[in-house]
Amino acid sequence: GPSTTSHLKDLNAELLTIERNPHPAEPNFENLAFGRQFTPHMLVINWNNQDGWGAPQIKPYGPLAISPAAPALHYASGLFEGMKAYRSSDGSGKIRLFRPDKNMERMNRSAARAGLPTFDGEEFVKLIKTLVRLDRDHVPHAAGQTLYLRPTLIGTPNALDMGIPTEAMLYCICSPVGNYYTSGAGAKPVSLLASTDAVRAWPGGTGCYKLAANYVGAVMPALEAQKRGYQQVLWLFGPEKQVTEVGAMNFFMVKRRGEKVEIATAPLDGTILPGVTRDTILSLLRSYIAGEVDLDGLPAREVVEVNERQITMDEIVEAVERDEVVEVFGAGTAACVCSVERIGYEGTDLKIPIGPDGMGLFTRTMLREVTGRQWGVIPSQWSQVC
Ligand code: PMP
Repeated sequence: GPSTTSHLKDLNAELLTIERNPHPAEPNFENLAFGRQFTPHMLVINWNNQDGWGAPQIKPYGPLAISPAAPALHYASGLFEGMKAYRSSDGSGKIRLFRPDKNMERMNRSAARAGLPTFDGEEFVKLIKTLVRLDRDHVPHAAGQTLYLRPTLIGTPNALDMGIPTEAMLYCICSPVGNYYTSGAGAKPVSLLASTDAVRAWPGGTGCYKLAANYVGAVMPALEAQKRGYQQVLWLFGPEKQVTEVGAMNFFMVKRRGEKVEIATAPLDGTILPGVTRDTILSLLRSYIAGEVDLDGLPAREVVEVNERQITMDEIVEAVERDEVVEVFGAGTAACVCSVERIGYEGTDLKIPIGPDGMGLFTRTMLREVTGRQWGVIPSQWSQVC
């Protein structure tokens, strides 16, 4: 019970041991496809309910040995994060993480929901930074390219029961990834198919946690959307057809409201993943409205309004008819922001305006302001050098 867990050891970065990969592959940044290539090392930390967190290990990237009974393989006892390391383009060689504390908070919330052990997020960030420094030659140099980081936590005991796992493994692997805006099909504005049958998340469900279980259900609806000529799924919920998320991104709509321009996104009501990019965009816009930061190119702060509120398909259909939709975009770590040009809904296509270069004013401004802070071009408290 809980009274016996107090003696368990928390995660301690000082206990790290490093086993170097004797045959590291040469960095290769040609034709980077998402998550197909990995760096020479990975970080692994084991946990059990007798001792707590063990000594962290960095070792050569390679297969894990886990029991075929492990709950990770049966009951989706697993969760993950998605972060990036950004190499400065100023020649300083500096590599940065962006708001890693937010990913750690979210990962610990996911762990608690899954009955998996929580851990000291600051210690885990220290270890991730050490891993990135060790594999720094694998952090791409070209504009927009990054090292994608995948922290993962899985339940691993050799036991088929459905209780709280008695053993777990926390690890992190790293994958060089290309620039969303210069590589391949994703660079263009995307089309969405509003899903009226498959549902991603529901009140009381796990949609607001980054559990592995939330993602497997999205695979076939995404394939179906692609078969029908759309790139991603627009996830709806309930009889009101509330708009929740776009693929694996948060949804933003910019809308004219009389003299004002409103930026709206769905509220964190339990069905929405609290995106780090979403939070960053909301914070920047609120600071802009408060006069604390200048976001060049946006309409005057007096006319800009930011709201976390429910958005229904009826509202979007009506706003499109009245020409009130200014732009729609998705926001997430992978693409930062991504313009939407078309939404398929109940057999018709809603046309969403996009700017002359495939991106509206708000989308382009948020891309510049967020990526500027991620790469250290715009100084920010959110940016941490590895
Ligand atoms: N929604 C879902 C369902 C996601 O998987 C992600 C990616 N983590 C996001 C939104 C965007 O979150 P973030 O900005 O933290 O990447």
